[in-house]
Amino acid sequence: MDRRINESGRGYVPQEEIKIPPVYHFPPPIIKSINWLFNFFFPWWIAYFAFAYLGWFYLSPSIEKMAVLDISWILLIWLRNVFLLTIFAGGIHWWLYIRKNQLLDYKYYSRWPNEKSNKFLFNNQVKDNIFWSIISGCTIWSLYECLILWMYASERIQTISWNESSLYLILCIFVMPFAGGVHFYFIHRFLHIPKIYKIAHAVHHRNVNTGPWTGISMHPLEHIPYFSFLLLWLLIPVNPYIITLTGLFWGIGPAQSHAGFDKLVLFKNKTLELSDYFHHLHHKHFELNYGNIYAPLDNFFKSFHNGKIPPK
Ligand SMILES: [Zn+2]
Ligand SMILES: [Zn+2]
Repeated sequence: MDRRINESGRGYVPQEEIKIPPVYHFPPPIIKSINWLFNFFFPWWIAYFAFAYLGWFYLSPSIEKMAVLDISWILLIWLRNVFLLTIFAGGIHWWLYIRKNQLLDYKYYSRWPNEKSNKFLFNNQVKDNIFWSIISGCTIWSLYECLILWMYASERIQTISWNESSLYLILCIFVMPFAGGVHFYFIHRFLHIPKIYKIAHAVHHRNVNTGPWTGISMHPLEHIPYFSFLLLWLLIPVNPYIITLTGLFWGIGPAQSHAGFDKLVLFKNKTLELSDYFHHLHHKHFELNYGNIYAPLDNFFKSFHNGKIPPK
C-alpha cells in the first residue's frame, strides 16, 4: 500500500524517481510540459496569489505613506509578513503536527520530530524554527520589501500598471520562481563552503526531520543573500503587487516544501502534493540537490540525485 509508511518503518518514499521536468528537455514535449507547468502552479499558487492580494491590497500602508521612509509603516509590513507566515506555516503545522490529521501517512520520516533536543534554541525544534523565521527571516524579508516599495512609492524607480502592460506583468510572475531558483542554487552552494556553513547555514541544517516552520529558519547571514532575490525588481520594473508576491513566495513557500509530508490527505482520502522530496534529500544527505527541481542546475553541475540509488 502506497500511502502508509513502508514496512521497514523508514518513512514514505515516492515510488517514482525524481526526473528533470519536461520543460527542460529539448525539444520540450508540448503536452507533458503544459501538464507539468499546470501542476507546478496549481493549486498552491492560488494560495500565494491570495496571500499577496490580501497582503498588498488590505494589509499594506498607502503609497503616499510609503513614499517617505518611516519606522511606523516598515513595522506594519513586518507585522503583516509575520501574520501571513504564521497563518500559513502555523496552519500547516497545526493540521499535521498538532491535530495529526493524517498521522504519519506520507511522512518522509516515520517518526515525529524530537520535542526536546539541545541542538536547538530553547531545546525545542519548533520554538527554534519560529524564532529564526520571525526574528531574522521576517525582518530581513520585510526590509528588502520596504526598500523596494519605498523606491516605487517615491518614484525613484518606475511602476508598471496592470492596465498598461498586463501581459508583461504576467510574464514577470511566470518567470519569477524559475529565476529565483537559479539565484537560490548559487547562494546555496556558497552557503555550503565549510567555513560559511559553520557560521550560517548550519542553523537551517539542524533540521533533518523538517517541519513547516523549518522553511525559513535560517541564520541572518543566510537570510541576507536568500531574500536578496527581491532586488531583481530594482532592475526590472514591475508592479508593487508582484514585489509582495515575490516576498511571499520565498517567505511562506518554504513552509510547504519543508512540511515533511509528501502529500496532504484531504476528505475521502483525496490527496494533494505538499512537500518537496528533492529538498528533503538535501536535508538528509547534505551534499546533493542544492537547487529546486524547477530550476534543475544540479543536473548541470552533477549534484543531482533522483532519490532512488543510495548516494555514495
Ligand atoms: Zn531546507
Ligand atoms: Zn544546504
